[in-house]
Order: sequence, then structure tokens, then C-alpha cells
Amino acid sequence: MSGCADANRACILAGAERKTTRTFAAQRGRQNLALEILSNIRIVLIHTTHPGNIGAAARAMKTMGLAQLRLVTPKYFPHAEATARAAGAANVLDNAQVYTTFAQAVADCSLVLGVSARSRTIAWPQWDARAAGRHSVNAAQHAQVALVFGSERVGLSNDDIDRCHGLVQIPANPEYASLNLAAAVQVLAYELRMAALEMTDVEKAAEPESIPANAQDLERFYEHLRQTLVYVGFLDPENPRQLMRRVRRLFNRALPDTMELNILRGILAAVDAKNVKSRIPHT
Ligand code: SAH
Repeated sequence: MSGCADANRACILAGAERKTTRTFAAQRGRQNLALEILSNIRIVLIHTTHPGNIGAAARAMKTMGLAQLRLVTPKYFPHAEATARAAGAANVLDNAQVYTTFAQAVADCSLVLGVSARSRTIAWPQWDARAAGRHSVNAAQHAQVALVFGSERVGLSNDDIDRCHGLVQIPANPEYASLNLAAAVQVLAYELRMAALEMTDVEKAAEPESIPANAQDLERFYEHLRQTLVYVGFLDPENPRQLMRRVRRLFNRALPDTMELNILRGILAAVDAKNVKSRIPHT
């Protein structure tokens, strides 16, 4: 009787062990998939003043499985304080790339989100940190994504925001909503990880219909559009007002893909050609 019970228990335990092994394997597979997605996400820090915050941001990233750190004109980098605050995430710091402009830092990214505590005068698409995590992870399955953080003193400038597809806010205490820079990176990194784990828990999301064009191609388009608008007399370079900012907002909302951008560039080229012809005196 007891032999039978023992055999039964052994059988149950073996089954449980097999199940646990399978569960661990599934978990590992899921984590690897999540890491793969997260590797397409860059954390970009603009004009960071305190090197300690760069180190703490690197640590925040590594704990959540992010590794791509990009720094735009940091005041001090590399720096002993950054290394000290990074603790076990020294490799993230060592691999950090330094850029002289925002545009260069996000040139290869198809989705660029500005992380900002302040609401702006011009309405830009906005997400809270959770929604931004999901949106970013979704895009990061097929393209590069940048989350851009401002400096400790002034945050993101309006020119920086012009280059973003949308803004992300951490819905903090409205009476004191300004988190420390590295703390803000930690919150977003956590949301990204949760979104990636959530996504890889089920079947991978279906292929999106199109992959948005990258920031460099978008910038070329905006410059072409600006020149043509000046050319046809719609934009007065002496008094541009908010025209290009509003136009950027419109196209950033649409997330055009490369083919759509080519059509728009083609339209502009046709307008340019017509203009040149009309300026050639008839003989
Ligand atoms: N004094 C700055 C705040 C700087 S905090 C200002 O007025 O904008 C440094 C960076 O941390 C910000 O640029 C932003 O990227 C991030 N941050 C801090 N608090 C945030 C919040 N509540 N929501 C989103 N980002 C935040």
C-alpha cells in the first residue's frame, strides 16, 4: 500500500519536475524574445549635466534588459561618478555612443518619443509611460525606437520636441511631477520590459502593414518641403511663424513609411520642376 503511495508520489513529483523544467524553458524562451525586442530600443539622454545620472540611467537600463545608451553632448563623459553609479552596468556605459546632435542620435530610428514632464503649448501626440511602453515595444519588433530624455535643468527644448513623433509623460504628482532623470529612465525601462514580456507571452503580434520611415529620411523630406514652400511663396522665411512645426506635427502623426515619403518627395520634385520651367523666359 505504502509502496504504491510512494510510487504515486514519485510519479507526481517527476511530473511536477518535468512541468517546472518546461515552465522554466518557456520562461527563458520568452525572456530571450523580450530581450531581442528590447535590443531595438535606444535610450537617448540630451545634454546631461550630472555624470552620476548617466551612470544611474545605465544601471536602470541594465536591470530591465536594455543596453543601447546614446548621449548627446553630455557635460562630462566619461566620468568616475558615472562609472561608480553604474555599478554592475559598466558595460552599458562602455558601449554608450556619444553624438553632437539630436538628429544624429536618432537618425536610424523610425519611432522617436520625447519623455517630458511638462505639457506644451502646441498639442503633440501624448502617451503615459505604460501606453508608451506598449507602443514602443510594438514598433521595436520591426524597427529601431528611441526614447529621448531631456537635461536635468531645462528638459527637452521645443526644437528637440519637433523631432519627436510624440511625447511621453509619467503621470506623477501634479504638485511635484519632476522625477530625477535616472528615476524617469527607470520607470520607462520597467514599462518597456513589462510590455515586452506581455507581448512575448502570446503569439508575436502580426506584421504591421508598413514600417515607418526613419528620422533621417523624414528630416530630408521636411527640408525639401520647407524649400518648396519658400519657393512657391507659401512660407515666408522672414516670418515663418509656427508653420513648419504644425506641418511636422501632421506628418509625425501619420508615421509615413518610406514609399509614402517617396511619393511626397516626388510631388515636391514635380512642383519644383514646374516652378523652374515657369521661371524660364519663353523664347
Ligand atoms: N527641469 C526640467 C525637468 C528635468 S527632469 C523641466 O522643467 O523639464 C530630467 C528629465 O527627466 C526630463 O527632461 C524628462 O525626460 C524626465 N522626466 C522627469 N520627470 C518626468 C515626468 N513626470 N514625466 C516624464 N518625464 C520626466
